[in-house]
Amino acid sequence: MINTNFTAQLSNTHLLKNQAYIGGEWSDNKKLAMMNVLNPATNKVIGQVPSLEKKHIQKAIKAAKAAQVGWRKTPATQRSIILRKMASLLIKHKQDLALIMTIEQGKSLLEAEAEITYSASFLNWFAEEARRIYGDTIPSPLADRKIIITKEPIGVVAAITPWNFPSAMIARKLGAAIAAGCSILVKPAPQTPFSALVYGKIAELAGLPKGVLSILTGDAITIGGEFSSSNIIRKISFTGSTEVGKLLIKQSASTVKRLSLELGGNAPFIVFSDASIDDAVIGAIQSKYRNSGQTCVCANRIYVHAKIYDEFIKKYIKKVAALKVGNGTDKGVDIGPMIDEAAILKVENQINDAIQKGGEVLLGGSRHELGLNFFSPTILTGANHSMLLANEETFGPLSPIFKFETEEEVIKLANDTNFGLAAYFYARDVGLIWRVSEALEYGMIGVNTGSISTAEAPFGGIKQSGIGREGSKYGLDDYLEIKYMCLAGIDQ
Ligand code: NAP
Repeated sequence: MINTNFTAQLSNTHLLKNQAYIGGEWSDNKKLAMMNVLNPATNKVIGQVPSLEKKHIQKAIKAAKAAQVGWRKTPATQRSIILRKMASLLIKHKQDLALIMTIEQGKSLLEAEAEITYSASFLNWFAEEARRIYGDTIPSPLADRKIIITKEPIGVVAAITPWNFPSAMIARKLGAAIAAGCSILVKPAPQTPFSALVYGKIAELAGLPKGVLSILTGDAITIGGEFSSSNIIRKISFTGSTEVGKLLIKQSASTVKRLSLELGGNAPFIVFSDASIDDAVIGAIQSKYRNSGQTCVCANRIYVHAKIYDEFIKKYIKKVAALKVGNGTDKGVDIGPMIDEAAILKVENQINDAIQKGGEVLLGGSRHELGLNFFSPTILTGANHSMLLANEETFGPLSPIFKFETEEEVIKLANDTNFGLAAYFYARDVGLIWRVSEALEYGMIGVNTGSISTAEAPFGGIKQSGIGREGSKYGLDDYLEIKYMCLAGIDQ
């Protein structure tokens, strides 16, 4: 079932599917248990998708194995052409796809459109990289031998993705897998299956052979269990919480799989005394409030030098107070709803804890007057490291501001976390920029910018924020195996 109010808003409904895509076939939903999908702006059911059983996952795994035999032999140029077609279809239907995303996820239409463009950029990027999977020859220590290195697709890959970027998190896995000659099974988040099922339809339209891609909706324990225990699946690529990432490491031990993990963050955002305050305010808003604060690279802790503290806060409050909260489909909305009640409770818990420990709410601090899942953009000063908000990922529109005096002190505070995904700072002194970039224990550093993601750059974290990189020239390596051939006896 898909609610008619939902379909009525689209100019073209052929990409909106409510069937799972199993080995190139759309599921027969009459025989399946179904799960509700809600619009977080209204809490109303917008449709249902199947909750697949073990046997369906096993069928998809078998189909992926069979399809991979031919797909790995398909010339890279051909794989590249199909990826480009998929990217063009995303762009062609951008408005409808953005609307589907906003209705099931909540972000503003502007952000949803930007995410579709971002998704297409990964497919195009990997379409190009597919043709550059180079090998190597290495000088041999023995006269009668040649050492030859080739790179081969790892095989069947499983991807598990979150709801916060329901299209892009799939595109950067699926693009790399298809480019490398792997087949891929995707389990999307249950909150946002429609943006995921779109990929089944565009794969069909672009001519991707059946079985190379499956999109499997359903219960995480059932699907995750089948993925982890399968000997056919050679790699799991997961984007989501650190907690589930750790579970997947444990579960995959018995089948010794390659794991790529893009996990949670707790990004520091530092404003040094020589920074452009106006630029830092804009960067902090971009980093903090995009997707209502529900991004893994969100500024989680904002450190401001004592010298410019008052001026920064005055300017920051003015700009944050002007952000418009509302249904993502409404014109001019900056901040949509949060994904659900649990997400709001986490933010409220952090705010209450911070107030008890001396924090002061200068803006927002509570649910928005629109009710349901809407939360007001919040600024809290007097933050310190005894508070939950310094130690947990917030995943909501809360800016805690910390005051600091010295470079040494702020680096120590910034690194005082088990996470290591993204960090940001604003400064002009070149020596300081270099020192601080080196000292921050993070996989990605934004200097004088609050926005760092692009298909050309390696995305990923260190410490408990993950293993591996996505996008960039490094992103394909995670889907390839190195094979060494020792060719002897050639001097006879
Ligand atoms: P999550 O709860 O870890 O869920 C992510 C995905 O894993 C969902 O599809 C979920 O399905 C599935 N899952 C949960 N338990 C599982 C299990 N036992 N076995 C297999 N799959 C399982 O994370 P989320 O709340 O959706 O997303 C927010 C988190 O993702 C944040 O921590 C954020 O920082 C992180 N994130 C990281 C990046 C990055 O690139 N580093 C990017 C975006 C988001 P169910 O919902 O059905 O359980």
